[in-house]
Amino acid sequence: MSELVLKGVPAAGGIAYGPAFILDKQEFIVPKRTIMPEEADCEIARFEEAIGQARLEINVLKEEIVRNIGPEQARILDAHLMVLEDPTLLGQVTSGIRRHQQAAEYVFFNVIKQYMAALSKIQDEYLRERAADVNDIARRILKFLTQEDKWHDLDLLQQDSIIVAHDISPSDAVGMYHQKIIAFVTDIGGRTSHTAIIAKSLRVPAVVGLKDATLRVSNGDFLIVDGKKGLIIINPIQPTRELYTKEQSKIHASLEKLEDLRDLPAQTMDGKRVSILANLELSRETDNVRKFGAEGIGLYRTEFLYMNRLDLPGEDEQYEAYRRVAEAVAPFPVTIRTLDIGGDKFISSVQVPKDMSPFLGCRAIRFCLERQDIFTTQLRAILRASVHGRIQMMYPMISGLSELRQANAILGDVRRSLREGRILFDDQIKVGVMIEVPSAVMTADALAKEADFFSIGTNDLIQYTLAVDRVNEKTAHLYEPSHPALLRMIQRTVDEGHKEGIPVGLCGEMASDPALALLLLGMGLDELSMSPSSVLTVKKMVRSLKFSDAQRVAEEAMQMLTGQEVEEYVTVQLNKLLPHLL
Ligand code: PEP
Ligand code: MG
Repeated sequence: MSELVLKGVPAAGGIAYGPAFILDKQEFIVPKRTIMPEEADCEIARFEEAIGQARLEINVLKEEIVRNIGPEQARILDAHLMVLEDPTLLGQVTSGIRRHQQAAEYVFFNVIKQYMAALSKIQDEYLRERAADVNDIARRILKFLTQEDKWHDLDLLQQDSIIVAHDISPSDAVGMYHQKIIAFVTDIGGRTSHTAIIAKSLRVPAVVGLKDATLRVSNGDFLIVDGKKGLIIINPIQPTRELYTKEQSKIHASLEKLEDLRDLPAQTMDGKRVSILANLELSRETDNVRKFGAEGIGLYRTEFLYMNRLDLPGEDEQYEAYRRVAEAVAPFPVTIRTLDIGGDKFISSVQVPKDMSPFLGCRAIRFCLERQDIFTTQLRAILRASVHGRIQMMYPMISGLSELRQANAILGDVRRSLREGRILFDDQIKVGVMIEVPSAVMTADALAKEADFFSIGTNDLIQYTLAVDRVNEKTAHLYEPSHPALLRMIQRTVDEGHKEGIPVGLCGEMASDPALALLLLGMGLDELSMSPSSVLTVKKMVRSLKFSDAQRVAEEAMQMLTGQEVEEYVTVQLNKLLPHLL
């Protein structure tokens, strides 16, 4: 058998080797089996037993998730338990068995098919998502009814496996706290899709945008996933495996060496200090912040707290979560970003209309200004938590001053109501603006007068500046962080922020790339926030060179006219200054 190499979009670095597990949404096929009338009671009993076993299995799984991960993530299973208790569904199956004299699995299968067909036609996002829950639970029940394990439940994984799927939504990825998942591979997606970001935070390699991986890979094929180069190798031959085993040991060895830098400041040889912080998606991941040497959290993506559940997190629950995070990283700071849903992130508890172009639709601050009830609850929780640790907050996707003013007016009301209720909060809390829309860059002079800090979100700023969808693999080659237009946007933001005396940070994925981080350092950013696993490498870069060298590289790069020229130039410069870093 010869090996097959597929090239996709690199999404999360690292190397994995293991068997593939195809996560398909294929239809179940259940053979028709007729029964004798006197067998009906027995079939009904079998069905009820399968329901009981499924309930037991879910409860065990739920307890395991609560114990190992936390109650927030276990809530997804409540939806599955609800399906098991649906009297209409249960009634239809038992009466169907008697009326049609057919085996329990066949009747159940037909009832479920009707449910799923009805749910999938519904426009409403929330109800459509329920189809996925019904699908999942149906597989579980069929497993017990047919005594077959072919229903592909993720929790059936017996060994470390690589998930191969057409697509994985950010909430699916968050739900995959499966210790046995060692890499993600998908047909679609771009390098800064939130699925890729979650893979990084789960610290598993990921390659997205492989186009037809699900067709080319079969269940149980062995794969090498090279998350840095964006390659997968199907059934690799022995020499390839050996090569990658060596590569893996090299990566481990060089990461171990970097650990000495954990408690050292990110300071250049000529004394320029920058802050290197971590991005946080899952509140349980706070241990990684200090473990990887970050000086706090520069971006806490709170929307993940709202995912995989049927209700909205209340004020107290959010307060506890923010407080836990702030206390875990104290005395270092945490920047809490207010809810950023829409785009490629949806939550079940709120119906967001399906926009034609979700990234240009009712997303982030636009959603919060419309749903002030949800926004206010979050702001109250953030302010209440602000007396613990060092919390600051920022708004996503601000497109101009009027949005900032509207958000701040709501914040003002929240402050007043807390004061009236004699509830403590940090009255000096810093309130920043994410700069991720070109119009915010162009009005940065005005925004800087009314914001305490800027944080540039390049993942979005790139897509909005270059008109390239960040999750579309077909245009992934046009998604260029080194594009001169983007560099000018960043430089302008830094200069406008500094003119008003406010700090300017950057928290998009480009900060994780050491060659681009060198450029950003030279452009004068005060703070770089990135996935925790990149912090030590970037810190090493900062500590190994002079700020004046970085400034020279930035000045030179700013004169260049194409993204490709810039990319090649910064890579060569990094290799010259630090030949062994990469
Ligand atoms: C960004 O857009 O760069 C950013 C950091 O936010 P998110 O990736 O969550 O949109
Ligand atoms: Mg963004």
